Amino acid sequence: MKIALRTLPIRLEPIEGETVDGFTKRLAQAHQCDERDIRRIVLDRLGRSWWPAADQRVVDVIEQLADLPSGVLRPDFEAAGMWVRCGHRSWRPEKCAKCARFAEPRAACLECSGGLATTTIARGGALCLTHHHWAHRALHADVDGMPGYENAEQLLRSQLWTRGVALHTGELNLAAAFIHAWHQGSGGSSPIRDRMARIGIPHLDTYENALLCAYPEIIRLAYALTSPRTITPILDVTTSALTQTDCLLPVIATAIGVEANGALREFTVSVVGHAHRSMLYMYGLRSSKQVKHQRCPLNRALMAAAHRQRACLLRHANPRGLPDIAGTTGQASPRAGVIRNWASEADELALT
Ligand SMILES: [Zn+2]
Ligand SMILES: [Zn+2]
Repeated sequence: MKIALRTLPIRLEPIEGETVDGFTKRLAQAHQCDERDIRRIVLDRLGRSWWPAADQRVVDVIEQLADLPSGVLRPDFEAAGMWVRCGHRSWRPEKCAKCARFAEPRAACLECSGGLATTTIARGGALCLTHHHWAHRALHADVDGMPGYENAEQLLRSQLWTRGVALHTGELNLAAAFIHAWHQGSGGSSPIRDRMARIGIPHLDTYENALLCAYPEIIRLAYALTSPRTITPILDVTTSALTQTDCLLPVIATAIGVEANGALREFTVSVVGHAHRSMLYMYGLRSSKQVKHQRCPLNRALMAAAHRQRACLLRHANPRGLPDIAGTTGQASPRAGVIRNWASEADELALT
């Protein structure tokens, strides 16, 4: 029998959805030692010489070291699981236990973590609702008292999350690019410009800058763009992309809460045009490599095309609301098992 592991002297409570990596780093920081030292103890315990990233016993040993109840560092799928469109049961967004997907680890609130940097996969975005602390990538800010931020975070955690939308899935990057385009074309004062001045961010040209200064607008816009009822008719390629832009532009301007301008219109034309080209690719997808003429069912084809053409709006269309036109037969669609393992990538036109 192995002797019980001696626990480390400083006790840390894991925060919600904290990653094992993040907790290990925090443990090292709290003890003023190197992360390698903690890892060495774990390796000794496991009798290995290299770090076994996928070994579940790593989690057990770290929990013992930190004197934590068994299992607290394992992610809770019920609370934090991602909704995915995987085709296991259907292609609609659902929390699939077979896929058991989690969000990409993101920077955690520094107040929650006692000032020690860590990462979390908890259901949510960049704002801590307890401390009003903003954390995304390297940006940390206090947004206490800034209207709209809390509502935005709540909308992300409720409605957007159940559509499979999170900080890393691409839709918010695209919404951020719309805001950037509008901002470039507007000279007057706006809530976004006021926040930029208050926080000290000069440009909205990166995803993290735009997200911090225009979180309420980006979340509202992403909500509108990923609503199947809004986006399905826009993706109907039997009407020209220019006409579809005229339908979508007022929706976008209302969601942002501004008057549309030339720059916003121009950007909308390019996004809708790109989406329409991706739809034509989608219609041409064959069901599999083996068949020459059998077309891929629209629900799977939408997911394949959204990824291959980097057009995330296709993921949110309702296949039953689309005309079933015969496309020019093109590439074969990958199997569902391949599609569900693709990592999410931001659109060509999105901010990254
Ligand atoms: Zn699944
Ligand atoms: Zn917090």
